[in-house]
Amino acid sequence: MARYTGAKCRLCRREGAKLFLKGDRCFTDKCAYERRPYAPGQHGRIRKKMSDYAVQLREKQKVRRMYGILEEQFRAYFQRADLKKGVTGDNLLIFLERRMDNVIYRMGFANSRNQARQLVRHGIFTLNGRRVTVPSIQVKAGDQVGVREQNRNSPIIKEAQQVIARRGCPAWLEVDGENLKGKVNAMPTREDIQFPINEQLIVELYSK
Ligand code: SF4
Repeated sequence: MARYTGAKCRLCRREGAKLFLKGDRCFTDKCAYERRPYAPGQHGRIRKKMSDYAVQLREKQKVRRMYGILEEQFRAYFQRADLKKGVTGDNLLIFLERRMDNVIYRMGFANSRNQARQLVRHGIFTLNGRRVTVPSIQVKAGDQVGVREQNRNSPIIKEAQQVIARRGCPAWLEVDGENLKGKVNAMPTREDIQFPINEQLIVELYSK
């Protein structure tokens, strides 16, 4: 499946926000956005007044890039969110949050969503006891996540145990780093997504 392979820090600088795309590095002073908090390119430092459309577009790009989703799939999530009962913006973010790769990242099994996606594709994890290789699978309340027996001793999983020990996970999830398993306690709500997002701008953009 297609994915973005360019420089990740450029995306944070373009969106004017830390999107946490590079794992631990994002929390150090090596973070490119901390060092150069302006847009990339020759004219990046020039502040331009943005039109309403540009503001909406940037918000959509920010969320799309944060979750590592391509345009077509993002629009499909929006359409599903729009058809579902409730607030479209909330529905959209909850669909993104329930993706298997995001859950793996949130639980601490991976340093970034990108790494989580790769690990899921390699079939390292199980969902309710069955091996999964599709990062976009939607989890639901009560689902059990685990690491396959044959992958438990791999260096990347050993490293993940340290990540789990030092990083908490949101209340809707539960993780047991020692036994390499986790549980979806409840469906996420809008309040569980702490990152500053104005989803209404995305709704306005796609509703034109
Ligand atoms: Fe973004 Fe992380 Fe790069 Fe900082 S280090 S610019 S947060 S991807």
